[in-house]
Amino acid sequence: MMYYHSTRSKNDRFTSKQAILKGICSDGGLFVSDDILNAHVDINGLADSTYEEIAYRVFRVLIPDYTDEELKSCIGNAYVGKFETQELTPVTEIGDKYLLELYHGPTSAFKDMALCMLPQFMSKALSGTDKKIMILTATSGDTGKAALAGFANAENIGITVFYPHGKVSDIQRLQMATQEGNNVFVAAVNGNFDDCQTGVKKIFREFSDESMKEYGVELSSANSINVGRLVPQVVYYYESYRQLLKKGVIKEGDKISFCVPTGNFGDVLAGYYAKLLGLPIDRLLVASNENNVLFDFIRTGIYDKNREFVKTISPSMDILVSSNLERFLYYASGCDCDYVKELMEELSTTGKFTVNEKVLKNLQETFDCGFITNEDSKDAIKEAYNKDGRLIDPHTAVAYRCAEKIDGTVVILSTASPFKFAADVYNAIFDDLSDADGFTYMEKLSEKTGEEAPEPLKSLREKEIIHKSVVDIDDMKAFAEESIKKAF
Ligand SMILES: *Cc1c(COP(=O)(O)O)cnc(C)c1O
Repeated sequence: MMYYHSTRSKNDRFTSKQAILKGICSDGGLFVSDDILNAHVDINGLADSTYEEIAYRVFRVLIPDYTDEELKSCIGNAYVGKFETQELTPVTEIGDKYLLELYHGPTSAFKDMALCMLPQFMSKALSGTDKKIMILTATSGDTGKAALAGFANAENIGITVFYPHGKVSDIQRLQMATQEGNNVFVAAVNGNFDDCQTGVKKIFREFSDESMKEYGVELSSANSINVGRLVPQVVYYYESYRQLLKKGVIKEGDKISFCVPTGNFGDVLAGYYAKLLGLPIDRLLVASNENNVLFDFIRTGIYDKNREFVKTISPSMDILVSSNLERFLYYASGCDCDYVKELMEELSTTGKFTVNEKVLKNLQETFDCGFITNEDSKDAIKEAYNKDGRLIDPHTAVAYRCAEKIDGTVVILSTASPFKFAADVYNAIFDDLSDADGFTYMEKLSEKTGEEAPEPLKSLREKEIIHKSVVDIDDMKAFAEESIKKAF
């Protein structure tokens, strides 16, 4: 059996179902398992497996309290009919490297890979109990839609999303405002993203256990620190290995490297888990934009978020506190909860911490790092198109450029459709269209490149606007209460 506990204490242990329902530990730590250090996911016969079979192999090991039937049902339901391509995550060539295309799901970004699966895990964990769950999420744009799409019509689960009014792109707003489902609630908040996030945290505190009992509902979150988001991401590292085997690029046992555009450190941490589980990984490169906290950290061992926040064209990587890093610190310190707790307390009081020699050595042995400027990202988009004939989005572009640092068989994780960021991509390759809207850029980009925009993005234009609420920060709690009443 694999049990989970907090990165900051080993006093309480949890099954994976409990960890997935809770999301985050009561002491503020993240759920980790020591058993993963002795666990193994075999690559024997991988070449002839399917994505579903690989998912089963991985889940069997990482979340073993789910029954075989439950796992098979989760895997069977999560992605069916939601992906545009035959392979869920095609591996394609880009120059002398490979792109792992993780953006063919319902919201055209890689978060779908996890957020289509998480509701399945949660529903199974709830079944047989009389519990109901309301997911509360603050979003700066992308996570909100992927979570809404993932949880729409899930049984005994509702979802409420708050986003900053006027501060998401047209397309992102439409993606959320048109979301169908009898259990989904969306509000624009008069404030910025931090206000939304602080507001959500406040609701979690203010809804005491008592008042929750009254409603018969528990609150949970769908953000990237949930074990149920991490686990599905491990699968596509194995899947890309399978496709390279199948193509004859590598032989079983050969090592490959990954270059990962990084924000909250969830995606690349899943790569680290794959390596722990025995996938032959050579280098794991953490690619950052100008918010290069992680680059500095990996080079020096000093994590310092006291710096200017830079708004870039890869907004999902504009992050100064990479939450999932805490999990790596736990393993790198030799599973030392007290040490992790100390570092995290330092981070919260001073915005900064320095790791010891042992952790630094482990960190540098495990990860390579790179970062590029906003201007370089545009350049990389242009180069990928002109030199390699590939259209890539601004997040992928960061990894594309950083991947030049590593040799061998290199897989670049491609995290969003270029059409989701059509304006910036178009401007990088062609000329500025001044103030055209998102749809015009999408059309123009299609016209010029001959590539089709994903259907879910194109069809947004015709969809009915369902969610029109705009609330003040102080009214977020009332909105959440109202959602709970309507959902259950
Ligand atoms: C979320 C996101 C990332 C960063 O992933 P993390 O797991 O937060 O490191 C990169 N690219 C895109 C398009 C994203 O949406």
